[in-house]
Amino acid sequence: MAESNEFHLSFSRIAIYDNCPMRYKFIYVDKLSTMPRGYFSFGSTIHKVLEIFYHPDKNFIKQKRPPLEYLMELLDEHWISEGYKGGEEERARKEAIDLLKKIYRENIFGFSPAYEVEKNFSFNLDKFKVIGRIDRIDKVGDVYKIIDYKTNRVLPKFFREIDLLQPIIYYIAGKEALHLPKIETVSLLFVRYNKEISFDLNDRLVEKGKEKIIRTGEQILANNFEPKVGKNCSTCEFRDICPAFKKTEQDEISLKAHS
Ligand code: SF4
Repeated sequence: MAESNEFHLSFSRIAIYDNCPMRYKFIYVDKLSTMPRGYFSFGSTIHKVLEIFYHPDKNFIKQKRPPLEYLMELLDEHWISEGYKGGEEERARKEAIDLLKKIYRENIFGFSPAYEVEKNFSFNLDKFKVIGRIDRIDKVGDVYKIIDYKTNRVLPKFFREIDLLQPIIYYIAGKEALHLPKIETVSLLFVRYNKEISFDLNDRLVEKGKEKIIRTGEQILANNFEPKVGKNCSTCEFRDICPAFKKTEQDEISLKAHS
């Protein structure tokens, strides 16, 4: 297959494949470009601001800066305008300011800089290379906390198998690639709510996660790119060129014409 020379897996690749293998093919095999989206820009901006704010050397304490002013300055400096339409950007900017003010209010007392931020990792599993980047690692005493930022508008009510895979990958990476001696928690921090959800990862879940990674890798290598037509299609940028979506649309039209 076209991407075999550089083939690797990551959580986002596996999640895209899980969502729709055909969309995975469009992005990673056919290498079609994806449309910039406002919510991706929003997420990248907030990640960058928090990366610097919690950075072991660039945090406001080391920089001797008033924290709220520093947060707002970082927001200006790292704001990404790509992908917003109409008045969306202005609204998003206001949301980002509110979100950072909330983070400031709720975290500033007892603030501790991270042990590491934006930590790249790579590990081998079966014949697959898995890569990724951890947003933040905190160290409290001799234990480590792995944190991933989420900018979702809505707090999830439950976690699907695929959602659990990200903390599992980070847990494996923390142990096997970064050699952190004692991982206390792996958490998703929903920054709009300042709510941290930690996962109790036992050996069984880790094994299941590993099986999922290997299974997905095998399916990709076998060129299994079956489309998953469904609600995902409403936000898919490849609808106009996707034969499966077009066929479903045509089937629906002819069904309506005959009813
Ligand atoms: S339109 Fe639907 S079926 Fe086609 S690639 Fe996109 S998500 Fe998959």
